[in-house]
Amino acid sequence: MVCSMILPRFEFEAPSRLAEVCAWLAEAGDEARVLAGGTDLLLRMKRGELAPRLLLSLCRTNGLDQVETSAGGGVHIGSLATMSRLAASRALAGPWSAVAEGAAAVAGPVIRNRATVGGNIVNARPCADTVPPLMALGAQLRLESARGARTLELDGFISGPGETRRRADEILTRIELSPLGGGGTGSCYLKTTRRAAMEVTLVGCAAAVTLDESREAIQRVRIVLTSVAPVLLRVSGVESILENRVPSESAFREAADAARRAAHPIDDHRAPATYRLEVVEALTRRALHLAFQRAREATS
Ligand SMILES: Cc1cc2nc3c(=O)[nH]c(=O)nc-3n(C[C@H](O)[C@H](O)[C@H](O)COP(=O)(O)OP(=O)(O)OC[C@H]3O[C@@H](n4cnc5c(N)ncnc54)[C@H](O)[C@@H]3O)c2cc1C
Repeated sequence: MVCSMILPRFEFEAPSRLAEVCAWLAEAGDEARVLAGGTDLLLRMKRGELAPRLLLSLCRTNGLDQVETSAGGGVHIGSLATMSRLAASRALAGPWSAVAEGAAAVAGPVIRNRATVGGNIVNARPCADTVPPLMALGAQLRLESARGARTLELDGFISGPGETRRRADEILTRIELSPLGGGGTGSCYLKTTRRAAMEVTLVGCAAAVTLDESREAIQRVRIVLTSVAPVLLRVSGVESILENRVPSESAFREAADAARRAAHPIDDHRAPATYRLEVVEALTRRALHLAFQRAREATS
């Protein structure tokens, strides 16, 4: 793959108000690209894969980078929040800890200080580390344009590799997490790489477990896998096996087997598909145990 050091020519705007960003996007549509941290976009431009006429930088746009507890006890995450901010955020403790763990698993500190959660979502890659935890926790996306705002489920937003349901004139402004009810939620994100340093994910697994009011049975469970299919994979088989059931080692093994059967990894230079399938099973079992343990420890 050829990667030139030189970017193609482009026009550049960095508005301070969201309304101005929306107005520019309404006018330029497909010819514009939103620039957040640039860790994906600028590489694609250097490789010659993209040559937008206009880059609309969000670096001066106010109010898009907060991570804060919402009035209803959920969390609102600005799309421009960096991985470093997410990883260190107190608002992402307790039930939401998988999101902070996903952010902490991205690349190394230099990339984490620039890469944003909004870019990770809109980029729509099967190896994105913050998207599986957000999906497992039922995140919703707020998209704004000159025509108005709409809210979409993150689950279903990514329609293919590199493709989303975002319209060309829309900005992803916020990711919203709402309390999942029941008797307490625990979550986690586990990732394997070839070496314990900056590496693309071999397999990642996000788990979220919500207990029922008795705190014995599982009311809601989600497993979302990274890097084992063309898009991030929600394993619905796990939900039918574990929901409304008191968890046990054998139930978790059954669920891990369902995850293995749902995964369709490829062979590549990082690992053969057969190895990835072994890892899917082991990670799913471990993630379920950890999320369940955290749900038991949660106050509610
Ligand atoms: C060396 C290296 C290692 C990496 N390792 C990992 C890793 O381990 N895990 C991982 O998940 N990723 C990894 N990445 C990929 C990358 O860092 C992430 O995908 C990052 O979160 C992208 O965010 P960004 O702010 O840099 O996005 P940008 O590059 O600025 O944008 C990416 C895409 O999203 C669009 N976009 C961005 N923000 C918005 C918005 N608010 N509204 C609408 N559209 C928007 C852009 O137009 C562009 O199409 C790595 C990248 C590099 C270079």
